[in-house]
Amino acid sequence: MAMFKKILYPTDFSDVAQEAIKYIDQLRDGARQWVFILHAIDSRVLDLLIYNPIISMEIEKNLREDAQSSMDSLRVHFEETGFEVETSIEVGIPASVILRTEEAEDVSIIAMGSHGKSNVREMILGSVSEEVIHSSRKPVLIVKRPSR
Ligand code: ATP
Ligand code: MN
Repeated sequence: MAMFKKILYPTDFSDVAQEAIKYIDQLRDGARQWVFILHAIDSRVLDLLIYNPIISMEIEKNLREDAQSSMDSLRVHFEETGFEVETSIEVGIPASVILRTEEAEDVSIIAMGSHGKSNVREMILGSVSEEVIHSSRKPVLIVKRPSR
């Protein structure tokens, strides 16, 4: 029986989120296990373009295609490690999308980066990881940014 049967890996494809991968690999314990890779396309960014719905739709389409190709490589990686893989790309507020998926998929643990694309040096945590730690009912593995 796997200790962490289903690992939720929310990613913005940043270097810090990428850093979580090697720790997820180490959670592999030989039993059947899933990694659920999740990317949220931030709806607040799309809403900024509300005055031009055509452009907004075009941008969403591009973001989705980029996310899909990054997801495809992540899937290959985790399958090679021996995990079963599920993926999802959703439009919404990232922390809400992550917390909703945590509930809906009844995951065992969430593994994510301490920071993401913004990666402001002075911040102890990014806003997404902070909100997830605050509201998640499941254990959260926070992987720190790579030292440079
Ligand atoms: P902020 O977004 O508050 O300016 P930041 O970008 O440095 O700060 P977060 O966005 O909180 O930091 O990122 C922390 C982690 O949250 C990332 O490493 C990633 O695991 C996850 N994450 C962030 N954004 C998304 C997203 N859009 N979809 C899925 N996971 C995300
Ligand atoms: Mn961010």
